[in-house]
Amino acid sequence: MTQVNEKIIPYGRQHITDDDIAAVVKSLRSDYLTQGPEIARFEHNFAAYVDAPFALSVANGTAALHLSVLALGLQPGQKVITTTITFSATANAVRYAGADVHFVDIAPATNLIDIAAIRQLLADSPKGTYAGIISVDFAGRAVNLQELRLLADAYDMWIISDSCHAPGAYFIDEQGREQLCGNGRFADLTVFSFHPVKHIASGEGGMVTTRHAHLYQQLSKLRTHGITRAADDFLNSVALAGGGEDYPAWYMEMQELGFNYRLTDLQAALGNSQLQCAAQGLVRRRALAAVYTAAFTGKDYVYNLSGDVGGHAYHLYVLEVKDRLGLYNYLRRHHVFAQVHYFPVHLMPYYQAQGWREGDLPQAEAYYKNCLSLPLFPTLSDSDQERVIQLIESYYVK
Ligand SMILES: *Cc1c(COP(=O)(O)O)cnc(C)c1O
Repeated sequence: MTQVNEKIIPYGRQHITDDDIAAVVKSLRSDYLTQGPEIARFEHNFAAYVDAPFALSVANGTAALHLSVLALGLQPGQKVITTTITFSATANAVRYAGADVHFVDIAPATNLIDIAAIRQLLADSPKGTYAGIISVDFAGRAVNLQELRLLADAYDMWIISDSCHAPGAYFIDEQGREQLCGNGRFADLTVFSFHPVKHIASGEGGMVTTRHAHLYQQLSKLRTHGITRAADDFLNSVALAGGGEDYPAWYMEMQELGFNYRLTDLQAALGNSQLQCAAQGLVRRRALAAVYTAAFTGKDYVYNLSGDVGGHAYHLYVLEVKDRLGLYNYLRRHHVFAQVHYFPVHLMPYYQAQGWREGDLPQAEAYYKNCLSLPLFPTLSDSDQERVIQLIESYYVK
């Protein structure tokens, strides 16, 4: 039974408005294609959006992770803790620095990294075994970073929060306050992505936020080849630089091995324009999630669902269901393209070659067998969402 007239409903989709297009065209007509005024505006506005003291834009979320581990001084042979239910890039950044990834299982109640399991791991290991933790606000649900920070401090570790799913998400701290992802109070560095499937699209793009001025300086240097233009920091003498009284105006210094991980002004113009609609998009995502939660709570074919969680940014709405493959194929036949997030990273052939095996992380592996991400994006209409819900019910209630 193929219904060719039904339009396709993807699991996620960007929404480009006329204002977005006008912003990019305006940037194209300006004097700058890269490193123009839109970059600084985007950084400033994004910092305000997540309540962070500093924000540095980069080429993509993966570059944000890479620069973050380098800025924190991650060395070859060191070990970093992260979750296996994430996009591979989270773990890969550790490998870029020549360090090793230690995956920890998820807590089934949240599908986030199991902080109790990290506590146990640290208690069972000699102090200094792990350099840091990269937590992931999977699906848009914020990790309790206050709890994680206590643990990290006790073992002298840094924290990077991979909040690519979670701009605008927050957790409630012990004092009952909302702590926005990326505000820098608990994580040393927080990374975001502006890939079109994420909340805010800039084409490719990423951001790192922090409260630490020295990390911000280090990230900016590494973003541009390890070059600095700050005369106070120069290592070579004025004479070698070819100056007289002082360093000549043209002089700059490459002090360490960095990269070209800059965002362009065009992308920043798009990101900035998208940012204007981000809060509104978040409200819509939360409303759509509430409808899914109401529809699927208590159904006998549902083992677990994303649910109604305060502060959740709902990048994804995940159902854990019986007969996931059957449902997935049935939805596809009806042009509803649900998706699976994620195949556990530790079972990717690359990480199996590092020694990881099936059975190592049972909660994550069990989650993977049943999980399905339903269509969820701000422009998903009520009637399209209703169609998705009806289809799922009709698959199980025959
Ligand atoms: C998208 C994503 C990344 C990588 O971002 P890119 O901008 O695609 O490089 C990293 N971590 C998570 C959890 C992501 O979802």
